[in-house]
Amino acid sequence: MTVGIVGAGQLGRMLALAGYPLGLDFLCLDPARDAPAGQVAPLLTAAFTDRAQLRKLARRCEVVTFDWENVSAESLHVVTRAHGARICPPVAALCAAQDRVAEKRLFEQLAIPTTRWQAVSTRAQLARAIARIGLPGVLKTRRLGYDGKGQAVLRSMEDAARAWEQLGSAALIYEELVPFDCEVSIIGARSVGGETAVYPLCGNVHAGGILRVTRAPYGPPQWQRRAAGYLRRVLEHFHYTGILAIEFFVLGGRLIANEMAPRVHNSGHWTIEGAATSQFENHLRAILGLPLGSTRPLGHSGMVNLIGSIPDRAGLLKLGGVHLHDYGKKPRPGRKVGHCTLVEPSAARRDARTLRILKDLAADVGFP
Ligand code: AMP
Repeated sequence: MTVGIVGAGQLGRMLALAGYPLGLDFLCLDPARDAPAGQVAPLLTAAFTDRAQLRKLARRCEVVTFDWENVSAESLHVVTRAHGARICPPVAALCAAQDRVAEKRLFEQLAIPTTRWQAVSTRAQLARAIARIGLPGVLKTRRLGYDGKGQAVLRSMEDAARAWEQLGSAALIYEELVPFDCEVSIIGARSVGGETAVYPLCGNVHAGGILRVTRAPYGPPQWQRRAAGYLRRVLEHFHYTGILAIEFFVLGGRLIANEMAPRVHNSGHWTIEGAATSQFENHLRAILGLPLGSTRPLGHSGMVNLIGSIPDRAGLLKLGGVHLHDYGKKPRPGRKVGHCTLVEPSAARRDARTLRILKDLAADVGFP
């Protein structure tokens, strides 16, 4: 059985690596010849909009998934129209996640608390949004933003004027800046047959808009219950298939949804070593209609993203129990090139060892 992956980044690569033990084959499509998943699975090198190659993907695969949420929905429709290949997760969920305004409306429709927001497409609308929502706030492009790109924090009207010059040519959204206590994410799967499984809550630290560290399990049981409830609402709404992630700000014990990702998620990488079944395997099980695997944590996991370049391997691996994942990417400032994970018997030991790794990496991030 062959699974098609539109996008051949590190997420596609880890999907393929999780699928081989299950006897699955993979075929990826990506414009980059040296894409991470293309190093471990056959690759169709083509633009995401190349109809001929998308049709070939549909012909050769039983099910098609994606590892990047900016792939055009229209391209995926080409896949479904050709040879009836199934797309998982549903394109409707992808469309909601691609547009921050559609995403906010979805959260509101499903009574999932989210930030106060307003769509902005003119300078006058920005002024009105600031008057209504106040400062500080965050101005973001509605589409194509990732890892903190396409957004600016506004603390003054001067910031607003500057941000408008940078971002004003695209459709925007203005939202309140949440003075959060911490950030968390919830990840879960729904299978073709409607079975669901939810992982323990993840505690995330971002810097410059990029995820740096995840710890899981994280937070009190009521956060877990609430986040899992919100996640299930979205899963059921879309008759979803595959892994879905929702990121939240936590403020005074309240969970405020920031965004969702209709795919395996960076904050779930710890599940490879830290859970009975990884998010990658469960995504494949879910889209193939196989029974979902247990999401039980095997200990207290810490995951540190490696940004820019892979550090000295020996230095990292001499730390007992550290697992290194190198995505095979060329080094570049601000680029996620790998991650490492450790699984410990206690949260205190996990935290101490995670901080030690961050110190060794000279990464300027800590956590409470
Ligand atoms: P996003 O691309 O929306 O996930 O934003 C990346 C990161 O920027 C988030 O994980 C937060 O750390 C920060 N951020 C984005 N929007 C807000 C907001 N409205 N309030 C506070 N922090 C934010």
